Amino acid sequence: MTELARIPLAGVIGHPVAHSRSPALHGYWLRRYGLKGHYIPIDIAPTDLANLVRTLPQLGFVGINVTLPHKEAILNIADIVTDRAALIGAANTLIFRHDGKIHADNTDGSGFIANLRQNAPHWAPATGPAVVLGAGGAARAVIAALIEVGVPEIRLANRTRPRAEGLRSDFGAKVVVHEWVQAANILEDAVTVVNTTSLGMTGKPDFRMSLDRLNPHALVTDLVYTPLKTQLLIEAEAMGCTVVDGLGMLLHQAAPGFERWFGQRPDVDEATRKAVLQA
Ligand code: NAP
Repeated sequence: MTELARIPLAGVIGHPVAHSRSPALHGYWLRRYGLKGHYIPIDIAPTDLANLVRTLPQLGFVGINVTLPHKEAILNIADIVTDRAALIGAANTLIFRHDGKIHADNTDGSGFIANLRQNAPHWAPATGPAVVLGAGGAARAVIAALIEVGVPEIRLANRTRPRAEGLRSDFGAKVVVHEWVQAANILEDAVTVVNTTSLGMTGKPDFRMSLDRLNPHALVTDLVYTPLKTQLLIEAEAMGCTVVDGLGMLLHQAAPGFERWFGQRPDVDEATRKAVLQA
C-alpha cells in the first residue's frame, strides 16, 4: 500500500450536505493537531444510500458522520448499532471496522450534555423538571440524554401532538406530553428549558412564546445555532437565566468520531468555535 493510500478518510453524508459545518470543524482539528487525514462532504441521495455507504471502506474511509435525511435509514445498513442509537432511532457517527462491519452510534445526546456541562458547570439537571419544545429527531437524542442525567420529569410540547405521544411511548412515564399552545404555561419551575424545534433559525419562522413564567434560575438552551444568539436566548438571558447556545453541541457531538477515525481526542474550546464560525 502506498503512503497516500494509508491516509485515513472520513466525511459527512447527507442530502443536501453543502451547508454542513462538519468539514470546517474536522478540517480545523486535522490542521491543529498536524494529523494526516481528510474529511469531505458527500452528497448521497436516499436511493443510493446502502450501495454507496458500503463502498466507502474500500475507498479508504475509516468512518463517516451522517446527517439529514439519512440518520434513521442508516440503522438498517449498519451491522452493529449501539444501545443509545437504537433507543434514539437514529445514528450520526459510523465507524468502518477492520473486520468489514459497520458500527453505528449516536453522539448527539452526549454532545448536548457535554455542551451544557462545559458552559454551565453549575447546572443540576436532576433537581427539577425539564421542558423540551419539539419532538423531531433532535428531541429524541435530547430526551434520552436528559433521562440519563437524572431529570425527574420531561414536559414535552410539540406542534404535532401525536409525534410527542410517540416519544412518550418510547421513553416512558418521565415524559409528560402537553399541548403546544400551552407551552408557555409549563415553563414554571423548570430547571432546564430546551428548544429543539427549528423555530428561530435563520430562514424559518420566529420563536414566539411568552417567557413570563420562566424561572430566572433555569438553564435555557437552543439547538438552533444560526443565529448563535436566538431570540429565545436573548429573552431568557434578559430575565437572568443562564443560556447556552447550540453550537457547542455540534462541536461536542463531533469529537468522539474524530478521535476514533484520526486517533486524537480533540479539544472543544474557544479556538474551535472561532474556526467553525469563521469558515
Ligand atoms: P426535525 O426532525 O425536522 O424536527 C423539527 C421540529 O421543529 C419538530 O418538532 C417540528 O414540529 C418543529 N417545527 C418546525 N416548524 C415549526 C413551526 N412552524 N411551529 C412549531 N414547531 C415547528 O428536525 P431535527 O433534526 O429535530 O432538528 C431540529 C432543530 O435542531 C433544527 O433547527 C436543527 O438544525 C437543530 N439541531 C441542532 C443540532 C446541534 O448540534 N446544535 C443537532 C441536531 C439538530 P412538528 O413535529 O409539528 O413538525
